[in-house]
Amino acid sequence: MTADVLMLENVSKSYRTVGKWQYGHHHEVLAVRNVSLCVQYGEIYGLIGESGSGKSTLARLIVALEQPTSGSVLIDGVNIAEMKPIAVRSMRREMQIVFQDPYSALDPSQTVEAAIEEPLLNLTADSKARRMQRILELLHEVGLPERLARAYPHQLSGGERQRVCIARALAPHPRLLVCDEPVSALDKSIQAQILNLLRDLQRDQGLAYLFISHDLAVINHLCTRVAVMLRGRIVEEGDRLQVLLHGAHPYTRCLIEAAAYFAGNGVLPRLTPSASKAPENGCIFHDRCLHAQARCRRETPSLRELMPGHRVACHFPLSDVRDGSS
Ligand code: SF4
Repeated sequence: MTADVLMLENVSKSYRTVGKWQYGHHHEVLAVRNVSLCVQYGEIYGLIGESGSGKSTLARLIVALEQPTSGSVLIDGVNIAEMKPIAVRSMRREMQIVFQDPYSALDPSQTVEAAIEEPLLNLTADSKARRMQRILELLHEVGLPERLARAYPHQLSGGERQRVCIARALAPHPRLLVCDEPVSALDKSIQAQILNLLRDLQRDQGLAYLFISHDLAVINHLCTRVAVMLRGRIVEEGDRLQVLLHGAHPYTRCLIEAAAYFAGNGVLPRLTPSASKAPENGCIFHDRCLHAQARCRRETPSLRELMPGHRVACHFPLSDVRDGSS
């Protein structure tokens, strides 16, 4: 067994779209571009980026809801695309996902008990008695009273619904939980409760999380390692403090400055106006970057190591500029 529960190797995903006004005209939209990353057993790996950066597509590729156009997704070192059907079923037990919107994630006609029982029926061979016992254990683990087992989603608050979604994800004893913006649809006061619940579950059960968020404060609260995603690419990766305190990619700096501004501390970062479409050539950020030079428009920077564990995809990373070593 490897130290990595999840490994992505050069994963890309593109979609063909049909032009609305030009009959028969197709073009490719690259949602995820050459992403490589590893999540180790028991760690919380944060993935941050703005809306439309490809984070949710990546989540769906990881839990095999979609197939990559190219590249490999490996669980415990085994490529999902090469797994036999029986191994895929067992892999589905290992990886579960918590979606952003607890309102649409639950079937309104199913009770809480039925929602949590569904993955137990599909992914385990547990008897009816064992399933009922497990449902009560899970309600307890996520802080819900047993009486809610017979409730329907419309009888629950947003926070209670997300607790049900977490219980359902935990039901088959996964080792990796992909959390796709799990608190962004909730009120601020409820967000803290759900984040604390996720942190406690991770600590008590030794789970690994791939935690996706657009909110730096949330990532900072939970994660040990962080990657920054922009227009389908990872542009920076490192330990939480390397990225969130000493971010070297100009885009990471913009995210940090924007978070400080909205927390009432600092000024809004300056960016050049962007085209809606990512540049075809060169750095993915060159149309918005204040530090762009001629090389940035010609060559796509690869992720290179600035210091152990800290990788940046930039020809002129800002730590180099500060050190004068670029
Ligand atoms: Fe900016 Fe150039 Fe770095 Fe891209 S490679 S982020 S354009 S400095």
